[in-house]
Amino acid sequence: MTYDNNNIFAKILRGEIPCEKIYEDDYVLSFYDINPQKKIHVLVIPKGKYVDLDDFSHNASSNEITGLLKGISIVAQKLRISVDTGKGYRALVNIGEHGGQEVPHLHFHLFGGEKVGGMVQ
Ligand code: 5GP
Repeated sequence: MTYDNNNIFAKILRGEIPCEKIYEDDYVLSFYDINPQKKIHVLVIPKGKYVDLDDFSHNASSNEITGLLKGISIVAQKLRISVDTGKGYRALVNIGEHGGQEVPHLHFHLFGGEKVGGMVQ
């Protein structure tokens, strides 16, 4: 699947659409989900143009991969949902049609602030 430069997260990265930003560095942008499913529901996205986790795993640089994983932990600490600062959280990635992915730019969902519940519905 080729990357769609007009997907909603590409527009957020370009500043064309606003977001409620939590954290940003050279590799990631994190912001609150517009339709939260739990008390805390945020998204962490790489700045690079990757459609999904498989695209990212195959094509991202080592620095980008490290940057995304570290970004997730930094955000969890900032929100005080990491195990060292809070009570833990769930990181979830939807991939493709069967995974339920709606936005074709890789994003990690972080859910927390309460017990997240069953793993899948
Ligand atoms: P997916 O189903 O692709 O894994 O998740 C996409 C997520 O993006 C959904 O949870 C949805 O609420 C969120 N989302 C869609 N459009 C926007 C937007 O314009 N701003 C923000 N902050 N979140 C969005």
